[in-house]
Amino acid sequence: MIEVVSQQRCIECGLCVKVCPTNVFDRTETGLPVIARQEDCQTCFICEVYCPADALYVSPFADMEQKVTEEELIAVEIIGSWRETVGWGRGRTRLAEIDETPFIDRILPRRS
Ligand code: SF4
Ligand code: SF4
Repeated sequence: MIEVVSQQRCIECGLCVKVCPTNVFDRTETGLPVIARQEDCQTCFICEVYCPADALYVSPFADMEQKVTEEELIAVEIIGSWRETVGWGRGRTRLAEIDETPFIDRILPRRS
């Protein structure tokens, strides 16, 4: 479930508001998104993956709130980390490139 929008990191691009499939965010006048309908979050991680500033934290607990602060998440370097894990962002390795599940070559071009 979405838990945190980092006020320190957000660059107010509005992408999370745009990509959320269940319209969880509202955009304020300054452009900063706020979590307006947390109960509608589907824990899909799409917003965290799209956020170019690593400013969002989606907790893996889909059915319960996780009371965490922005400072705590930054201290353990977990905020925005799903984007890094899947390899989105400049200079990162896409997860699909290193995926070794047996069927992956059926859908991706063979590596030379
Ligand atoms: S995790 Fe998915 S449903 Fe939840 S706020 Fe982000 S984009 Fe919306
Ligand atoms: S995608 Fe990230 S940087 Fe852009 S508005 Fe949302 S939280 Fe801020």
